[in-house]
This record gives sequence, C-alpha cells and structure tokens, in this order.
Amino acid sequence: MKQRPIPSINLARLIREGGSTSAKDEIWDYIALPNERIPLVGPAVWRVSVTKMEGEGGVDFWLSGEIAGNALMECRRCLTPTPAAVRAHFQYLLRYQSGLAHLEAIEENEEEILLFGHPDLDLEPLLSEAFALELPYTVLCKEDCKGLCPVCGANLNEVDCGHQAKTHSRLEAELSKLLDGLKD
Ligand SMILES: [Zn+2]
Ligand SMILES: [Zn+2]
Repeated sequence: MKQRPIPSINLARLIREGGSTSAKDEIWDYIALPNERIPLVGPAVWRVSVTKMEGEGGVDFWLSGEIAGNALMECRRCLTPTPAAVRAHFQYLLRYQSGLAHLEAIEENEEEILLFGHPDLDLEPLLSEAFALELPYTVLCKEDCKGLCPVCGANLNEVDCGHQAKTHSRLEAELSKLLDGLKD
C-alpha cells in the first residue's frame, strides 16, 4: 500500500541562517483530523511560507499559508454526497525548541506560540485545522433540492413516490379550511 505522504517544510537552513522559505504540495483523499477524516474530491492544494524573525534570540518564525480544496459533504436535505469548496488562510507564530517531540501551543503576551522541536516541521495539524475551520456548516446538492420523502425516505430529486402530492393536497385542504374560517 502506498504510504500517505506527510505535508512538511524543512526549516533547517532557516534555523541556521535566517531568511525565508516556502513549500507547496497537494493532499489527496482526505484531510486527517485527530478523530475524524474529511473526505476530499480531487486534491487540496496548499502552500506555506516561513520567515525567521530577527532579534529576541532569533528562534521565532512567522508562518503563513493557505489551503484550498473540495470537501465531500452530505446535502442537508437529501444526504447525497456533495462537494463543498473550502479555502482557508492561516498564520502562526512558531518557536524552535530543540528536542520537542510534538507541536505544543503556549501563550506569551496574549499571543499563541507554537513550539516545534524538529527542523522538518509537520504541517498536517496546521493544514487540517485551518481547513476544518472553514468547512461550511451545511451544503445543498442544488439550490432547489427536494429532499427526502418524510413518509418513505425516497430521494424526491430522483423519484416521485406520490406521498409528497398527498401531503400537499392535505395541506391545501387544511389551508382552505383555515381561510374559510377566517372569512366567517
Ligand atoms: Zn440534495
Ligand atoms: Zn414517499
């Protein structure tokens, strides 16, 4: 089985010499969150650039990036898998702390700083979080999706099971009764 590549950026030169560096690539199949996977339609394209900040001991880095792709979600009315365009921008303040095994967030002067311990910075948690935050709450497969029949569960975009018409005529009957009542 092909191993899923980990999106990363190597900051070894930046840590040594300063300056800026950037990386870009694609993520396929899904966005991996700690407890969940967001399925993708096509690739999610990302780019990240990192700049070393001068002064203050010179271990802080400014990271900015973006990720764009199509998440596969369920239409909120008929549950049909539907692609939803997602584009996210993100920025982080990073600090290199040699030997640290995992990313760690700390707060300093009311600013969040991400500590990283390996020059090969794993971008997956940053990309995944940014992507997940921009997911729409719900999607529709089309503007006028008819949804599922409340009686038999049929997809009303595809079949006319007949229940909907009955519901409508019953509703119309109720309405006209109501209107008649108002006239009196
Ligand atoms: Zn739908
Ligand atoms: Zn039905």
